[in-house]
Amino acid sequence: MLEFAATRELVGVALRITGKCIIPDQRSNADSAAGLIVRPQHRLAQQAATARPGIHVGSLADNHRRILRIFNSGLRHDVAGSERACEKGEGLLWDGHFALYMALYMNNAKTPDLALYIHWPFCISKCPYCDFNSHVRDSVDTKQWQTAMLADMAYEAALLPGRRLDSIFFGGGTPSLMPPALVAALIEAAAEHWGFAPDIEITLEANPSSVEAARFADLAGAGVNRVSLGLQSLDDAALEFLGRAHDVAEGLAALETAQSVFDRISFDLIYALPEQTEANWRAELERALSFGTDHLSLYQLTIEEGTRFASDVRKGVFKPADDDSGADLYALTQEMTNAFGLPAYEISNHAKPGHESRHNLTYWRYGDYVGIGPGAHGRRLNQATQRHTKPENFLSGVARNGHGIREEETLGQTEQVAEALLMGLRLAEGIDLAALEKRFGVAQNEMIDTKAVSHLESLAYLERNSNRLTILPKGMPLLDAILPEIIALAAA
Ligand code: SF4
Repeated sequence: MLEFAATRELVGVALRITGKCIIPDQRSNADSAAGLIVRPQHRLAQQAATARPGIHVGSLADNHRRILRIFNSGLRHDVAGSERACEKGEGLLWDGHFALYMALYMNNAKTPDLALYIHWPFCISKCPYCDFNSHVRDSVDTKQWQTAMLADMAYEAALLPGRRLDSIFFGGGTPSLMPPALVAALIEAAAEHWGFAPDIEITLEANPSSVEAARFADLAGAGVNRVSLGLQSLDDAALEFLGRAHDVAEGLAALETAQSVFDRISFDLIYALPEQTEANWRAELERALSFGTDHLSLYQLTIEEGTRFASDVRKGVFKPADDDSGADLYALTQEMTNAFGLPAYEISNHAKPGHESRHNLTYWRYGDYVGIGPGAHGRRLNQATQRHTKPENFLSGVARNGHGIREEETLGQTEQVAEALLMGLRLAEGIDLAALEKRFGVAQNEMIDTKAVSHLESLAYLERNSNRLTILPKGMPLLDAILPEIIALAAA
């Protein structure tokens, strides 16, 4: 019952507990509509249910769509009938976990929206700096992948019913290599499972090659309304160093096509390349800003273990930019993007106000997100999920289990708070400690090391203003060093 009290608080639905029965209090949720869902294994509940319309008997996994139809059709839950059934001992026995699903259905309009991440793991070739889950294959059986991805999505949808999608993000890998019909099928299935917020953001990461640009109109037709282009550089020599398949002319032609097809465009650039000077980054960024996109992702080149660049550096093939030069280029980046009206809202992401990536904000604000496809991570209520990374293992996992999950872990409250801090402090808006305290029931002074916070505040690296903790611009480049100092809890 204690667990149930937490559930009630989480979803904000009034529920009454009568003896063995937990009844959604329709009188306090007069605008909610729901069919009754009862566990099929309760024989008495089944008997009670078949005798009355509006009561659906079935497990969520097996009957998810049917339940949704009942819910969407506006059938009202018969409170008085349930009470009578309970009093007569006719079942309707709901455990806390199951009641949560019911509460989420009832609270459809009040529960926070969800984000959906779909990972397409294939690339034409492997870039030497890349440590993403990307794989090169001679051929890809699209039909087999469509079946597997749809099954993986349906599995998650059954566990997160009654939520609405606010964003979808196709990442990779190179999702612009996906046939538009596959993208359309996934978007349609997502709409059927969850329903969409009216202004849903649907982003697809694209490589700026002419072949992929030729598909942009079809991708827009499939429902994609925002594209994130992996331009990476506006310098041919740098593109060659980065092992990219496109040159500047091809990249800019793809950008032009994207601008004619999509309303919202972002592109990525990588800076702090070996021997890159302030003057040439200034010129490159100035040119990038002149294209007028509403969003830019600007990353410093980092040498990740296990990549070809890491072994090149070990062998002395090249020397990465040193920290001082990286810090200077970072400062220049902030100065120029601020002056242009594209300030950083996250350490590496810049947008005109109102044009931030809603999908990524869900991660950083620690909202729920579903992750499907190879290697995808997800946060489903308090569950952390991770899919098999190798494409073949993902496919066999789905064939075997109906989903591609490799690991699933229940996160404790302190782990969730630590994660929420790690994510939220990347944002220029900082984090509302009081909201976090209310959400997880962990006192502010247990979340953060107040001594370390005061010390870093005196150095102007961060600011604690009433309940809000914000990393200041001076502290942002040192974020990785600051976070372990101030977060007093261990993340998962
Ligand atoms: S295209 Fe992107 S995901 Fe693929 S290898 Fe290159 S950087 Fe990695």
